[in-house]
Amino acid sequence: MSIEHPSFGKLDPNRIIIFDTTLRDGEQSPGFSMNLTEKLRMAEALAELGVDVIEAGFPIASPGDFESVKAIAESLGQRDDTPVICGLARSGREDVMAAAEAVRPAKRKRIHSFISTSALHMKYKLRMEPDEVLQAVTDSVTLARQHTDDVEWSAEDGTRTEDDFLCRCVEAAIKSGATTINIPDTVGYALPEDMARIFTMVLTRVPGADKVVLSTHNHNDLGLAVANTLAAIGVGVRQIESTINGIGERAGNASLEEAVMAMRTRSDRIPLTNGVKTRNLLKVSKLLSTITGFDVQPNKAIVGRNAFAHEAGIHQDGVLKNAATYEIMTPDSVGWTKSNLVLGKHSGRAAFRDKLTTLGYQVGDNQLNVAFRRFKDIADRKKVVYDEDIVALVDDEVMRDHERIRFVSLDVHCGSKAPPRAALELEVDGVTKSATAHGDGPVDATFRAIQQVFPHTANLVLFSVGAVTEGTDAQAKTTVRLEEAGKMVDGQGADTDTIVASARAYIHALNKLLVKRARTEPRALSA
Ligand code: MN
Repeated sequence: MSIEHPSFGKLDPNRIIIFDTTLRDGEQSPGFSMNLTEKLRMAEALAELGVDVIEAGFPIASPGDFESVKAIAESLGQRDDTPVICGLARSGREDVMAAAEAVRPAKRKRIHSFISTSALHMKYKLRMEPDEVLQAVTDSVTLARQHTDDVEWSAEDGTRTEDDFLCRCVEAAIKSGATTINIPDTVGYALPEDMARIFTMVLTRVPGADKVVLSTHNHNDLGLAVANTLAAIGVGVRQIESTINGIGERAGNASLEEAVMAMRTRSDRIPLTNGVKTRNLLKVSKLLSTITGFDVQPNKAIVGRNAFAHEAGIHQDGVLKNAATYEIMTPDSVGWTKSNLVLGKHSGRAAFRDKLTTLGYQVGDNQLNVAFRRFKDIADRKKVVYDEDIVALVDDEVMRDHERIRFVSLDVHCGSKAPPRAALELEVDGVTKSATAHGDGPVDATFRAIQQVFPHTANLVLFSVGAVTEGTDAQAKTTVRLEEAGKMVDGQGADTDTIVASARAYIHALNKLLVKRARTEPRALSA
């Protein structure tokens, strides 16, 4: 039987709806917060990847969250081929109204409301009686339906909810007009067999469950998020919620790239389709790493540096004779290609702008000028300039031109003879300021100079250095994590000079902290 869906029309029963929550569940986890510009870029990349629904944020959580969901609805959401733009809400009236208001501009929109249904959560977290929770389900879904036809309802902690009560809540949500029913494994507790049992139960016991889209949302606390996702679609679930690189609360969510490639590679056992263009997977994964400053582990399936690297001689020999001997999917199919040699020092402005466009950047003339100057500078210092170098410099410079503190220059003396000394110039709110400092090493001296120019109380809790590409002339990519009054931010910097990259990362983190200070409301816990 096929389902008539408000956003997708008559649904092909073999089509899986890909719901991406990188910008919501992913973004709310420590170290992965993104600013408005970064969220817009991720949303564009997700749309290009071919996801069906983008959960763009949690509008009530903070003014910044509200603005970013609205901005995505106003830009991406205006295109004819836009994914559905979704906003999350708890069950209260204000929550639902904030979500409704934020997604309103989008051509295709969804409100996603949730409430905890497990005995444990109802008693200790909500302090509500089951009947009150049931009423809240009806009220929130009814209210949401007054603002969109496409409404999703989630039973938070659904996999630890008592069977009869779960069925009653799902029934209430469907009767009130929910068109997607999501049963999250919020705490990452379920086994694949639990998922199969719960969804089969809902389908057989709840009237109308076969007329809505069932959805699965899995956390990876036991490393089972993708396995649980596949178990759910095996019994008729047709929407999967996942994130790029598997980011999300605690151990993260089901990884989109893994779930999609499992479906594609094992289509013999999972004869279902989806709209993801798998060749874009690596690109989106790298974009997220660049924005957040966190690379995936080398052995990460699909997108890790070693995912297609064959080290054992016997394996290499086999792959050279016939790749299928040790490769179940081709590197090409998920976007692994050799780095492109892009531009040289003689490349012109037009070629540079073209390159930025193909890399997914829309820049104004001023931003182009700034980026082009920086590119020329790198082209002078580096033998070859790769796509990754361009991405690093644009992210580092152009995407931050609205920030209060800006890097101007740095002169460092270090070595084994004299104590390291850093002379630094920054622009703070448009005024150039400078300082000179000594330190235990060149990075320490530089960070002390920043402290002198812009006094602050944040503590440095993480400092890491990586390389953008290979070779000794590669740009350094640095991450600095600062902590202030329990708030944590990560900053990134890139430069052929490691110390300059470190200064840029520190300044980026400071700017993020200034933005975060402005956020007053606590971010709510959620499904
Ligand atoms: Mn979650």
